[in-house]
Amino acid sequence: MYLQRFDPWKNKLCSCPPKYSLNPYTGCAHACIYCYASSYIKDFFKCRQKPRLLEVLRREIRNIPKGSLISLCNTSDPYQPMERKEAITRECLKIFAKESMKVLIITKSDIVCRDIDLLKNMPSVVTITITTLKYYRKLEPFAPSPFERFKALERLNKESIRTALRFDPIIPKINEDEALEILSLAKSAGVSHVTVSTFKPRSDSWKRLKERFPERVSVLEDLYLRRGKRIGNSIYLEDQERERIIFAVREICLSLNLTFSTCREKLSSYNTSKSCDGSHLIEGGQPISPPSLEES
Ligand code: SF4
Repeated sequence: MYLQRFDPWKNKLCSCPPKYSLNPYTGCAHACIYCYASSYIKDFFKCRQKPRLLEVLRREIRNIPKGSLISLCNTSDPYQPMERKEAITRECLKIFAKESMKVLIITKSDIVCRDIDLLKNMPSVVTITITTLKYYRKLEPFAPSPFERFKALERLNKESIRTALRFDPIIPKINEDEALEILSLAKSAGVSHVTVSTFKPRSDSWKRLKERFPERVSVLEDLYLRRGKRIGNSIYLEDQERERIIFAVREICLSLNLTFSTCREKLSSYNTSKSCDGSHLIEGGQPISPPSLEES
């Protein structure tokens, strides 16, 4: 089954609205060192096509209600380098449009701009992930640069396509101090909503991070191994540290008049938007009044 109800390991920390999920490709060529999916999908950084995807999708889509929200994607990026030639994601969008579905795109690629003609004519929101301006070659070695992603955000907004930014993951002592610059640039590009999440390493992403940032190993070990806690297969920062990071970014969002939400942090009471994933923008979502930190 390719089109599935989104339910990330029945994770109680997930506050996503009901939606379906489709990954047009298996694996992801962007090879981000913090990637979680590489811990449970073999050879994840080798992107490959799925057998008979479009044929199966045309059949499966008849089984879900019209107007459903479909997220592209939650495991890999729908705009892989091979998408330029294969246009499989583009064909999926055409199927969604024909069946009156809503679509939530999550990507790190400016290839999404190729599909502006389709996105303009269907209920959609495009979420672009930007985590760093300083370390993108170390953290996301084969993804388009953040500068190309900002240009894509600008272009999408010029075409009146709703956009959100994912500042995710925030890795303490690595990219946390880039929040103001990234969020300000996103605001200038026309973004109205930001979703954030702290880094929750699994064994393989932890190993890659340490290899890429040997000079930060001791501080990261202190934060994660000594003071953090294990939840499932991930290591979370201690609550106080997670809240410190999240609140600092939230304050920046409030000052820039951006709506704000958290992903898998159990801090959704601090959100200032109706959805955590940006999907509220499809309905022209308005901010909810930001709760004060004391109330939350
Ligand atoms: S873009 Fe997402 S799925 Fe692809 S490697 Fe990076 S984190 Fe993993």
